Amino acid sequence: MLVAELAGERVYAQEAVRSQQYTCPGCLTGVILHKGRIRIHHFAHRPEASCNYGTCETAGHLEAKSILHQAFTLKGLYTEVECHVPNLPGGDRRADVMVWTEKKNRIAIEVQHSSIGLDEIERRSFSYAEAGIAQIWIPFLPKDWVERKSYSETEERFNLNLKQKPFEIWIHGLNKGYGAWYYDAEDKKFYFGMRLDGLTIVGPYDATELELFVTKRHKFVTPTYTWPAAYVAHFRPLFGLRFWHKTIGDIRNQIREERTRMQLSILQARRERVSAVKSMAQRREEAFEHRPKFISAYFQDKERPEDKDVGLYWFDR
Ligand SMILES: [Zn+2]
Repeated sequence: MLVAELAGERVYAQEAVRSQQYTCPGCLTGVILHKGRIRIHHFAHRPEASCNYGTCETAGHLEAKSILHQAFTLKGLYTEVECHVPNLPGGDRRADVMVWTEKKNRIAIEVQHSSIGLDEIERRSFSYAEAGIAQIWIPFLPKDWVERKSYSETEERFNLNLKQKPFEIWIHGLNKGYGAWYYDAEDKKFYFGMRLDGLTIVGPYDATELELFVTKRHKFVTPTYTWPAAYVAHFRPLFGLRFWHKTIGDIRNQIREERTRMQLSILQARRERVSAVKSMAQRREEAFEHRPKFISAYFQDKERPEDKDVGLYWFDR
């Protein structure tokens, strides 16, 4: 956890000092402050603690929360990490990062490092929705995604041959055509992702380059997935997507066009091959018509078989 309590006040591990005794906001028992050089500063329960608040948190998850918190604080928005949201319909929740817009609306940012079950993500999503809190879910890119990219049209677009987990597909469904944003724990940057033949991602973007916007969606149910009627937040790069087009519709069209162009070029190549064969036959015919007469003369000269061979050889070429 990045935040613990001291006398009821929230304290960030970054600003905490070793001489104080901080407590877990979940179970109120004492926690240990880790201020190492390598891992991000954080608090952890004592080994014997039975509380599961903030356990199983990876360094990547802590960093992602901290990066988002700093980025949106820099933009002048009030932001809290590990924000306690009491009395939600589905029970209390702790948003990874909560951002307050200028109009005092709340946006919960959830970074999802590990796989999460559909039941769980839907439960959390419905409780945010019912509380009127906008939500954005950010899955992590797998560690080896760089090796999995199959082609790169520009330096910034990658097609990943990824089998997406159900919760990722659920997130794309929640976002309704706005794509989904992914986080890469290696370079600590964000990537815009679209589901098209696997996953096409565009990036990287620094958290400071991203702004939030909110859309509204209706409830939708399929046999596999359920999405609430909710406010959904999305990132938008301040300087536009680093792509040859700006909107997702344009990207879709671009990819469709590319695909068509590729198919056309295959057809074209096939057609050229056919016409190449044809013209070779034509050339052969022409060559036959314009063949030097003396060769046939050689053919007829049975006394000089070596000349006939030379003539045939020349003709067949
Ligand atoms: Zn605890």
